[in-house]
Amino acid sequence: MKELWLQQLSNIINNNTDLIKITQITKQNSKSFLYRKKNINFNVKIPVIFIKRIEKNNHKDPILLQFIFHKKELITNKKYNSNPLNEQFIIPGMIHKYKNRVLILITGICAVHCRYCFRKNTKQISSIKLCHWYKIINYIKKNKQINEIIFSGGDPLVLNDYKLNFFINDIKTISHIKVLRIHTRIICIIPERITVNLIKILSKCKFHIVIVTHINHSNEITEELFNKILLLKKVGITLLNQSVLLKNINNNDNILIKLSNSLFDIGILPYYIHLLDKVEGSKHFNVSKKKAQKIIQKISLSLSGFLIPKLTKDIYGKKYKKLIV
Ligand code: SF4
Repeated sequence: MKELWLQQLSNIINNNTDLIKITQITKQNSKSFLYRKKNINFNVKIPVIFIKRIEKNNHKDPILLQFIFHKKELITNKKYNSNPLNEQFIIPGMIHKYKNRVLILITGICAVHCRYCFRKNTKQISSIKLCHWYKIINYIKKNKQINEIIFSGGDPLVLNDYKLNFFINDIKTISHIKVLRIHTRIICIIPERITVNLIKILSKCKFHIVIVTHINHSNEITEELFNKILLLKKVGITLLNQSVLLKNINNNDNILIKLSNSLFDIGILPYYIHLLDKVEGSKHFNVSKKKAQKIIQKISLSLSGFLIPKLTKDIYGKKYKKLIV
């Protein structure tokens, strides 16, 4: 029988019509959402288990708005394009921007489809091709200044334990790797993904494991997640969070203060809050730099320094993230 998390992962809603129905949004309130069974390029995707965290009959719910297809997505704008960061791959699936680390798109699959995702056009592959993987491993072996590997995607933790173990075992053969960082959204969507077996795999690594969650609103946090985070912390895993600043979802000082405090309560430190990457169809999520700075100034008055996420912006074609102060 399939593991529980895999069952939950495959029980999904994949279109607006069903999402509107299951969240009991009235016809009147759903006018701004697209009624279509499937959206060809980047379909709606949200597991039924996660929908339980959406308030019924609330078309402004901050979780719902991250995953429902809004009609505004169809509006085109010159400043918004398909590859807003101009990501360049040295080997298919691998980006080497910073001297000490490489980012590997280990899979294109995610547990959810966030409507603002800047990689929404690179979601076809289920996992990296082996021929590319071996090239990547050889590249890292030759470049001894690389001491950190970032698994990203997609969501690396949608891969099953067998596949993850396979990739991690290859990394273990590279002595200069000190850190494996895993960018993931699934552990907040489906906390059951943190299985005993996964913890065993991660705890057997000699390098340090850093898990960076992607949580945008405190409504996404549950007691189940807290219990799983405790298990990860017990084996010495560092937990950080990154959010995206999103209009009508979390662009408010009180919401962000609550988010930082809730993250800290469950053992995760706020790390980054990103300004939106201008991917096509996402303009309605955008918060201006000026407004973002004001919000950060406000939250700084109520939060200790270590609970204030760094406001950042990736710039098209540039190698480094820009910190906004
Ligand atoms: S989980 Fe991350 S990679 Fe996946 S759709 Fe959301 S933002 Fe994009």
